Amino acid sequence: MALANLIDGAFVPARSGRSLPDYDPATGLQVATLPDSGAADIDAAVAAALRAQPSWAAVAIEERATFLERIADGLAAAASALARLETLDTGKPIDLSSTLDVPRAVRNFRFFAGQVRHDRTDAHHGSDSLNYTLRTPIGVVGLITPWNLPLYLLSWKVAPALAMGNCVVAKPSELTPLTAAALCEVVTAAGLPKGVFNLVHGTGPAAGEPLVAHPQVRAISFTGGTATGARVATTAAPLFKKLSLELGGKNPTLIFADADLPAAAAGAVRAAFLNQGQVCLCGSRILIERSVYEQVRDAIVTDTKALVVGDPMQQGTQLGALISPDHLAKVQGYLALARQEGGAILCGGDRPSLPPPLAGGAFLRPTVIDGLPPTCRTATEEIFGPVATVHPFATDQEAIEIANGVRYGLSASVWTSNLARAHRVSAAVHTGMVWVNTWLLRDLRVPFGGVKDSGLGREGGPHSLEFFSDTRNICIKL
Ligand code: NAD
Repeated sequence: MALANLIDGAFVPARSGRSLPDYDPATGLQVATLPDSGAADIDAAVAAALRAQPSWAAVAIEERATFLERIADGLAAAASALARLETLDTGKPIDLSSTLDVPRAVRNFRFFAGQVRHDRTDAHHGSDSLNYTLRTPIGVVGLITPWNLPLYLLSWKVAPALAMGNCVVAKPSELTPLTAAALCEVVTAAGLPKGVFNLVHGTGPAAGEPLVAHPQVRAISFTGGTATGARVATTAAPLFKKLSLELGGKNPTLIFADADLPAAAAGAVRAAFLNQGQVCLCGSRILIERSVYEQVRDAIVTDTKALVVGDPMQQGTQLGALISPDHLAKVQGYLALARQEGGAILCGGDRPSLPPPLAGGAFLRPTVIDGLPPTCRTATEEIFGPVATVHPFATDQEAIEIANGVRYGLSASVWTSNLARAHRVSAAVHTGMVWVNTWLLRDLRVPFGGVKDSGLGREGGPHSLEFFSDTRNICIKL
């Protein structure tokens, strides 16, 4: 399979003629090639987007919303093929691709079609003036996405960007180009005018960076690692671009003794290991009140050992492969560090022995580590794999201090049956999002994003529409 860029309505290779390999992380086998694009490809995509932008901005909101719905229909019609592509590219279980990734991508387009139809702006009436806010498209926007939820996160940006009348140049992760390429087919079949949606494959340094640096790209919405986000911010800041940064996390799960303990243990396991622990929101630090520490820790270990690790294409598999051998090596490096730091591995930590062709895959058993101080590197750095540490706490104050003792501030999950405690702790943790007695329960209208090194800005519902538009105040003297 040779993938192509979508530029100005045409499927084209990289101008250099170069390509990159794309691998199935469950087998290590190559499944496709993608264009190894560079600045010339980005320039061509931005030029096409600039040409298309005035007429796209003039398309009535109702019609733009109808385009989004047509894209949603196209994705829904291809749902099972898309789920297989996502699993092939990422190594995630097919049950997850088909119940989370693909349905959510469809929903993102439908949701923003509805959101833009119901969007409204402010008016301020004074004794001598009437002010109203006009929302205008930004122009050409750049969208850069990671490999962990490829179609889900790409659609989360593309839908509101298009809804607000912008033209798009998207740069998906070079590790997971397959569903991005499929989205190009769906968008084309939906009849979107050429140049409105462009997608350029390639690496971060070669294709992502020229997109961020391009002076005519007026906004960048980036989801990825914190170090990359810092680089994107450094490049974009002197150009005064609008910037949305959804970055890493080291999220705490706080379990109080008054919680429904079996539900809390099960919730903590799900939060730690969904998608092989490769979700920015994963709860990789599990804090447990001391009076129930052993009981809850042991339930977590029992539930973790019961998780089925294996062939991602097989229904019933709960953990598939990590994204790549390089990433597996990074995660294993943290296991070595955890041992040095005095941690005891209670389960996992090793690789399952699977029959060919999976023998060469990037698999790792889900791992729970006890006995580490909450301030050590293993317990404070983002590992982004199936590794969770467990820590006891004595008081609410201590739990909050441990929760806040990292550079990240994306999300937290609090388990308690005490309503006052739920409110108090939720207000005291420094994160953009808190779940109480649940995790990853999503309402697409709410603000999504982090504080501290987890990022800048909010996505979701009206926040996405606001990010992907400029506002102009118009003052009329009465
Ligand atoms: P990454 O930062 O390596 O790459 C993300 C994207 O940025 C890719 O498309 C990559 O090609 C591109 N890129 C790399 N260098 C670039 C540069 N110099 N300029 C422009 N673009 C560049 O991240 P990843 O490894 O793909 O994803 C994992 C990370 O993403 C984790 O840290 C995870 O927490 C984070 N993440 C955050 C959220 C969130 O919503 N906060 C969601 C998913 C993932």
